[in-house]
Amino acid sequence: MPRPILATIHLPALQHNLQRCRRAGGSARVWAVLKANAYGHGIERVFDALRAADGLALLDLGEAERLRALGWRGPILLLEGAFEPRDLETCSRLQLWHVVHRSEQIDWLAAHKCETPQRVFLKMNSGMNRLGLRPEAFRAAYTRLSHLPQVEEISLMTHFSDADGQRAGQMGVQHQLEAFVRASHDLPGERSLCNSAALLRHGLALRLGSGPEAQPLAADWTRPGIALYGSSPDFPTHSAAHWALEPAMTLASQLIAVQELAAGETVGYGSTYTAPGAMRIGIVACGYADGYPRHAPGHNAHGGPVLVRGVRTRLVGRVSMDMLAVDLGPVEAQLGPCHAGDEVTLWGRSRCGALLPIDEVAHAAGTLGYELMCALAARVPVAVE
Ligand code: PLP
Repeated sequence: MPRPILATIHLPALQHNLQRCRRAGGSARVWAVLKANAYGHGIERVFDALRAADGLALLDLGEAERLRALGWRGPILLLEGAFEPRDLETCSRLQLWHVVHRSEQIDWLAAHKCETPQRVFLKMNSGMNRLGLRPEAFRAAYTRLSHLPQVEEISLMTHFSDADGQRAGQMGVQHQLEAFVRASHDLPGERSLCNSAALLRHGLALRLGSGPEAQPLAADWTRPGIALYGSSPDFPTHSAAHWALEPAMTLASQLIAVQELAAGETVGYGSTYTAPGAMRIGIVACGYADGYPRHAPGHNAHGGPVLVRGVRTRLVGRVSMDMLAVDLGPVEAQLGPCHAGDEVTLWGRSRCGALLPIDEVAHAAGTLGYELMCALAARVPVAVE
């Protein structure tokens, strides 16, 4: 029998979340963000569910090749654009839209010999200070691009650093929005600004400029990623349920042993948990080599959340490479004795429908749903349903 651990990708949830994002953007078209192998879910696995998007956004040419091999004929956007001049040949061959975020990429385009002109998104650094041309250099870059015969269409984009409104003292989206509008209001072209957080929190409420022609922030194209996979972009302020998102991934395992502890006995490496009285713990076939966060707490004061037979309980002791331990007390109080083979849900939905949001597991471990999804290990078998 294979080791009892399985990730399940829920296609109806992906479809639902895509619809949810579409509604949040009004008439905007949706770039479904499938980078990082669809946030760990697998491009090939999610493709059928997300092919109702208007375009698919990715990071590298290999992923774009995979999408074309799957038969996707619609738009593909390369979110970081070309990494070197010869990438432009592949962009032409695969008919990709690509981001231009620094002036060298314009030089490469000017020197590029292509039969079919290219469609680009010119990216402004409006305050994230990661990729993009600064507002004062944006107009000149736009003008240069607009004179190149290699370029057929120029759209404009920026990316928000604080759309989730989470951290004390952060600036939100307003200052970036103003910088973007100030530097680009009269330039022709479609706009794309919103990731999941900006879309769900502000998509139709904030406007791009003022006056009757001002567009909603969702603009012509939105770019949701994390929301498609059912994780809240602004947890813990709002849960995925608040945004009516469904979990797209379940990570499930089983108990492979039950231990009876006496008061004062400890659990796992470093003996970080001490039994306060007689108790039963379950050993689960899932560890950090499966992608479960090693820093999830399991000390006496606080244990990360887990479901056993659909009942919520907590980690005890440190997560090790292939195993973790859970307190069986709350489960046995409700359902009677647990045994090896009992179902454990690390995140997602249990067989009886109980929900453990990935955001809660991530939060307990001091990280984000994004990281847990992307860290799912290759050794974990994956089912699609
Ligand atoms: N747009 C860009 C440029 C990104 O880099 C990302 C992800 O980092 C997204 C959209 C999607 O963001 P999210 O997953 O937060 O919706």
